[in-house]
Amino acid sequence: MAYMDGITCICDNGRTLEDHRPIVGDDVISGIYRKAASLRGKRVLHVNSTYQSGGVAEMILSLVPLMNNVGIDTRWNILNGDGEFFAITKNFHNALQGQAVAFSDEEKDLYLQTNEAFSGQMAIDHDLVVIHDPQPLPLIRFYRKTQPWVWRCHVDLSNPNPALWEFLKGFVLDYDRMVISHEHYRRRGMPMEQWICRPAIDPLSEKNRDLSEAETAALLAKYGVPTDKPLVTQISRFDKWKDPLGVVEVFSEVKRHVDCRLVLCGSMAPDDPEGWAIYRQVEDAARPLIDAGDVILITAEDHLLVNALQRASAVILQKSLREGFGLTVTEGLWKGRPVIASRVGGIPLQIEDGVTGFLLDPTDTEGFAWRVRQVLENPDLGERLGRAGKEHVRQHFLITRLLSDYLDMLNAELTIQEA
Ligand code: UDP
Repeated sequence: MAYMDGITCICDNGRTLEDHRPIVGDDVISGIYRKAASLRGKRVLHVNSTYQSGGVAEMILSLVPLMNNVGIDTRWNILNGDGEFFAITKNFHNALQGQAVAFSDEEKDLYLQTNEAFSGQMAIDHDLVVIHDPQPLPLIRFYRKTQPWVWRCHVDLSNPNPALWEFLKGFVLDYDRMVISHEHYRRRGMPMEQWICRPAIDPLSEKNRDLSEAETAALLAKYGVPTDKPLVTQISRFDKWKDPLGVVEVFSEVKRHVDCRLVLCGSMAPDDPEGWAIYRQVEDAARPLIDAGDVILITAEDHLLVNALQRASAVILQKSLREGFGLTVTEGLWKGRPVIASRVGGIPLQIEDGVTGFLLDPTDTEGFAWRVRQVLENPDLGERLGRAGKEHVRQHFLITRLLSDYLDMLNAELTIQEA
């Protein structure tokens, strides 16, 4: 569906805005056409550091074709770093989420050099540039800036490591606008607008489109997931912030009372070098359960599988310790399944406790286990939460709303430019 042509990700999925009309209704679609009218022919560039695995790539993948479809000439380039670069930026990511990490001058130099080298491969003559996350943040230093630049930070910025933030802030200050996912991520002392834009999912993507029961069953069979017991799943990269070890603990507790099976599905992102180490920790911790077939670990990257797993789940967990927004929660809710998740980051925007799912403190293993049992033992409760969750996503977190927000931002930035 998406492939690289040099540094550019080609991601025409063939879908149009009209395809969304039956899902969101006429008013939403007309509103988008109205906002796009003044922007026809404008040229927008997105830059991030991977076109697969993880929520950011997922969103850009759906947003870019829709922006093109409504008349905005939109391109998506991927910064190509090596393993050393991604190890550094993964540490940046961890430190932005509050972890105490020290950075050497050599690491900072390599970060800048990689950005500088990449700038040599990428000409920018667009009307607006959107830079996603910290990896390509310093690019702005290596261009003569003739258009608005937006830094779209998808990370939880509520409590960043102060030394790292001081370093990164030097680049952020060159930008015209910051876009963040939550009110709590605003940084004090920044002169530019800090604009809140909630993430969203594409209801027509392979990951979220309707699947028949037969398709779902075939996908589960293909990956060796039996359905003789209720499935409890967490779909997340193997990352300490997603707390897969905590999920195994919760599951072990539930399993003492209700027979069920846990699937942890996390593909390996090229810009996340820690994945395999965390995977091995989980494998060690869950060894007897894995040998008994009660815990299944999957590292395949397959969007249809994610779709099938979410639909087949009796309970979906998201036991994150930190979470920028948590698209896996959105996806689970959209499948009409009960989601039990941590009260962190963007998750409470999606789950109203007891109405569209259940929220718990991320360290409350017993609380998680108790809620999972409650839902497994009361399928009607799960159905009720799932129905409410799906409607909440329809109203607030579909890609058409994200597109509409981007059009608002483009109108604001480009109208100011032309005035
Ligand atoms: N994802 C996936 N396969 C996996 C694990 C995750 O496709 O094995 C997707 C998941 O469905 C979601 C995204 O990666 O679309 C994760 O986004 P989220 O905001 O939950 O977390 P992030 O990885 O960006 O921290």
